[in-house]
Amino acid sequence: SLSDRLTRALTDLRGKGRLSDADIDRTAREIRLALLDADVSLPVVRGFISRVKERAKGAEVSGALNPAQQIVKIVNEELVDVLGGETRRISYAKTPPTVIMLAGLQGAGKTTLAGKLGAWLKKQGHTPLLVAADLQRPGAVSQLQIVGERAGVAVYAPHPGTSVGGEGELGVSAADPIDVARDGVAMAEDKQYDVVIVDTAGRLGVDAELMAQAAGIRDAVSPDEVLFVLDAMIGQDAVGTAEAFSQGVGITGVVLTKLDGDARGGAALSVRDITGVPIMFASSGEKLEDFDVFHPDRMASRILGMGDVLSLIEQAEEHWDAQQAEATAAKITQGDLTLEDFLEQMLMIRKMGPIGNLLGMLPGAGQMKDALSQVDDKQLDRVQAIIRGMTPAERADPKIINASRRLRIANGSGVTVTEVNQLVDRFFDAKKMMSQMAGRMGMPGSRRNNR
Ligand code: GDP
Ligand code: MG
Repeated sequence: SLSDRLTRALTDLRGKGRLSDADIDRTAREIRLALLDADVSLPVVRGFISRVKERAKGAEVSGALNPAQQIVKIVNEELVDVLGGETRRISYAKTPPTVIMLAGLQGAGKTTLAGKLGAWLKKQGHTPLLVAADLQRPGAVSQLQIVGERAGVAVYAPHPGTSVGGEGELGVSAADPIDVARDGVAMAEDKQYDVVIVDTAGRLGVDAELMAQAAGIRDAVSPDEVLFVLDAMIGQDAVGTAEAFSQGVGITGVVLTKLDGDARGGAALSVRDITGVPIMFASSGEKLEDFDVFHPDRMASRILGMGDVLSLIEQAEEHWDAQQAEATAAKITQGDLTLEDFLEQMLMIRKMGPIGNLLGMLPGAGQMKDALSQVDDKQLDRVQAIIRGMTPAERADPKIINASRRLRIANGSGVTVTEVNQLVDRFFDAKKMMSQMAGRMGMPGSRRNNR
């Protein structure tokens, strides 16, 4: 899947202290192929890759992130951007009713969406009315009526009271969808429904008659929003369909449906570029509640499939004390780490979240995790007491602490000699490991040593 491939491309960068232009080019090439295989349109892929490359090569050295993490961050930000950046909300009419027209191919999920959107609007305190202007497909009107009933939302259908299904359909097909749409909006004005959702017909493919009908409905009801409903599973065809509706009807927003399926991501990433309008809502199942406002940032991290790494990046940026980290990292790489630094390091890492989870996310931090994972808050207090019980010279170089000093320190800080010994051992282990890791994975601040 797209997620797997992006993750793989970016995981290959782990363990690099510094990224060369060749590293960046190779990663960009892999991302490019992954996007193309996921049916993302070519112009989108081109723009995306060139921005990622440019930003990666010009990336400022960050205190908090190593180069691999920086690329993950850049790719994520560019994904959010391609997906529309901010969430776009419905623009309601100054004088109700607000008219929302749904357009899209047959089977895209328009009728299902009408119910979901109706239920969602109702929850927000609106009084929506669904209008059944799909008179093309047998059963379309009754489908909307069922959907409306389930959502607890009123439905305007042609020939109200006519039994639907079977012979009822005959009466229905005689009506004109443009008239039905217009009458529906008139009824909303009359009965003070404040939002009208107009369900329309779709075809299996785009055709001129369908477009003319959609344009006719649009002209009759002057919608505040025309939502293009797009099945996220349709891949390459999404491009042509989106273009056709964009030109033929004019759309103000997109709704992606069937995100619960294993959509490849192509439609989501291409549609904004093709139509110039944002994705506003997302459907992810057949049930009423499988629906939400579209959040570009959530979709991006889902596509990237590196949610845990992204939250690590966020936490690291938030809590990392850049100057202290630089200083410590320099000491680590030069082998000058003291017990005092060790303590500060532990305190800083602890500030960043539950230690087990956090270190589990760090690429290649397995050993460090082992070294620090037994440390809980209580133990940290004891560690602190032990270190405070040492002289500055001992903190700087614990090798000089002999047996009688160890006993004195233990007594002074209320711990056993064994605990003092364990701390000193752990310090030497960690020091060795950290200097290896600093070289291997480019610890923050240690980059200058890799140049
Ligand atoms: P329309 O022709 O555009 O009105 O599409 P429908 O609303 O009739 O939906 C077509 C089919 O897709 C129905 O079987 C729906 O239950 C199904 N469907 C709609 N939205 C979703 C969704 O988000 N996820 C899944 N899995 N199925 C959906
Ligand atoms: Mg329908």
